[in-house]
Amino acid sequence: MAQNLAQFPRDYSPAPHRGKGDCLCPVCGMPGLHYLSCDFSKSCNDAFAGEAQFPQADIPVHYWRCIGCSYLFTRFFDHWTPEDYARHIYNEAYLRADPPADGSRCRALSDALLNCLPRDCSFLDYGCGEGYVVERLRRAGYDAEGYDPYFGDWADVPERRFDCILCVEVLEHLAEPLALPPILERLLKPGGTIILTTLLTDYATQSNNWYLSPRNGHVGAHSEKSLAMLFPGIRHVSPATHTIGDNNNALDIDRLGRLVTTAVGTGPCHGQ
Ligand SMILES: [Zn+2]
Repeated sequence: MAQNLAQFPRDYSPAPHRGKGDCLCPVCGMPGLHYLSCDFSKSCNDAFAGEAQFPQADIPVHYWRCIGCSYLFTRFFDHWTPEDYARHIYNEAYLRADPPADGSRCRALSDALLNCLPRDCSFLDYGCGEGYVVERLRRAGYDAEGYDPYFGDWADVPERRFDCILCVEVLEHLAEPLALPPILERLLKPGGTIILTTLLTDYATQSNNWYLSPRNGHVGAHSEKSLAMLFPGIRHVSPATHTIGDNNNALDIDRLGRLVTTAVGTGPCHGQ
């Protein structure tokens, strides 16, 4: 790993001693204050397993806290290509960084969706991975599609609109977060719902800032304010919920409207 990464410039990430202009917030454009530095090899699973899951890469990654919207972010990945991500992040060792990506997260999620989605709801899983949720909903008779640039079967963005878009654990991986809302809006039917999950800063910073982990490809952790800047129409934010379908946080369609609520936020990108 360290050898592979050595081909990246060592100054890929702005160092703390540089000027504020090197670490402007990719959400609101305000400066960031240095928050922490860690090694590229730090993974979310280090905190759960109780030990480092990857050898030290000797490549520092700096995270910053925006003084405007409190988004916690790194600019380390700013110039990475999809090939860089495929080689160094979403590779054969990725499950060590994120064990629930093996399907357990998707099983709980699809159970929750099947309990609440109306039968006539068209559905898109944006960032669908291997497509577990899509296949499960299709088997249940739903009009379901998926998109994920890192999985060949799902690499094409659909050219139609959907009643419901699921975007689970995607936002924290985006070096250009501002690019996502217009894409989702283009894919959403008027009045449709986006179910969006990402862990917010109060929880991301627990356990040695476990969520700020470069080896997972985690570019940042959102505050409620930065999330609301990206999605002005967001409703039903549930900061304490991480995985939809876990324990008591099943989706409740009757309480929250025609479609569903979410772990973090839902609603059209702009307005209601
Ligand atoms: Zn900001």
